[in-house]
Amino acid sequence: MTHRIGRRKMQHCDLLVRNAVLVDAPSGVHQADALCVVGNRIVEIGRGEDLAARYRPQQTLDASGRVVLPGLINAHTHVSATLFRGYAADVAGRGFLERMWRIESLLGPEDVYVGALAGCAEMIRHGVTGFANHFLHMDQVARAVEETGLRAALSRTMLDRQEPSLAGGELAAGIAFAERWQGRCDRITPMLGPHAAYTCSDRLLRDAAQEARRRRLALHLHVAENAYERRLMFQRTGTTTVIHLQRLGFFDDNRVLGAHSLMLSDEDLRVLMRHDFHAAVCVAGKMHRGHGIADLRRLLDAGINVCLGTDGPASDRLDLLAGARIAHIAQNYLHGRPCALEPRTILHLATAAGADALHWPTGRLAPGQWADFILLDTDQAHLRPLIHGPQSNVLVNIIHYATGADVDTVVVNGRILMRKREMLSVDTREVLDRLQRHAERLWHEAARSPQPKSGDAMP
Ligand SMILES: [Zn+2]
Repeated sequence: MTHRIGRRKMQHCDLLVRNAVLVDAPSGVHQADALCVVGNRIVEIGRGEDLAARYRPQQTLDASGRVVLPGLINAHTHVSATLFRGYAADVAGRGFLERMWRIESLLGPEDVYVGALAGCAEMIRHGVTGFANHFLHMDQVARAVEETGLRAALSRTMLDRQEPSLAGGELAAGIAFAERWQGRCDRITPMLGPHAAYTCSDRLLRDAAQEARRRRLALHLHVAENAYERRLMFQRTGTTTVIHLQRLGFFDDNRVLGAHSLMLSDEDLRVLMRHDFHAAVCVAGKMHRGHGIADLRRLLDAGINVCLGTDGPASDRLDLLAGARIAHIAQNYLHGRPCALEPRTILHLATAAGADALHWPTGRLAPGQWADFILLDTDQAHLRPLIHGPQSNVLVNIIHYATGADVDTVVVNGRILMRKREMLSVDTREVLDRLQRHAERLWHEAARSPQPKSGDAMP
């Protein structure tokens, strides 16, 4: 299909991508083989000869042997936790949080910045063009996002460990971050981020929801992530996380990004489907911790927008395409049949659904969308043959056989951040050397610092 926004001869465009196989979730494999970018938007999709006859491009990308996909959206992560890759790998639930919060208490702003730079580099390398992040020292993450050219929805984690006297200060810090970044960078969307219902006081949850409503900010928190949380919530409130949040009025007139959404009852689902709730499911990370396998089919059947995240690098790689493959396999395992979720649905979850959750006009290859897209190198042994037509294997090959390592070129907001695997906005060598130094100091300090007494770190 050819979309046209103008008919003047030889218009200027900033970037013309030619000879591509264009693939997105709404259309599957497009008939068109070229796309045209002006500023930070895709302005037209069509046949290469046609677009080349009408546009004079500043830059051209020859996408022969490449598939163009919308940029991947990592809908839940803690990007600076690259510092903690492989840390606390042997614990889950309370044990994991105690270990993580101990080492996180040692973090300074520069650690968070360096960790975020490394995480941004990893995501660009793997075709993630936008992400939703939850962490402390969030100004430093924003600084890394600004510098590396990625897009992000950022929330400064608000956490009072159910100590209501701390709620006011935490809320103020979360709001101050959002105010500082609202309208400051066109690639940064601030959000409000209470950590979770089981780690925050009711006062903090209620006030955060009220401030989100008042300021038209979306909320991002962990929801129903494991059996430990479920047990704790039943002990404290006599009900589930979702019902408790509903009773607090948390969902009323708010857009909520719920990370994990793993342990949900039928009643929980009925509540969530009535609200502007988006599930950011991190399948591989939760399987890695032994928390369970999210049933994505069940969430989708309940009418909930489901998007994919990686969680922090302590739990999983930031390679969302690799995570999408695991999500695909896990659904087949769970439902006892192949293609329990079609590859095209998985692609939707990894692209358009995340964009929808964050209210970003991206995730699709169409005129008017932000120019956030990636080129996947299919000219490789593990991605051939590539068959078109009625028996097309293109989507299966992308979801089941590709990983982020196959991403060759990345464009965000119309700017090329990686070209033919060359990183253009980050000096990866320098960033990894800094990450190594910062991580070594933190790990050694954490090993020397006293173990928290039971109840110290956790509610
Ligand atoms: Zn998380």
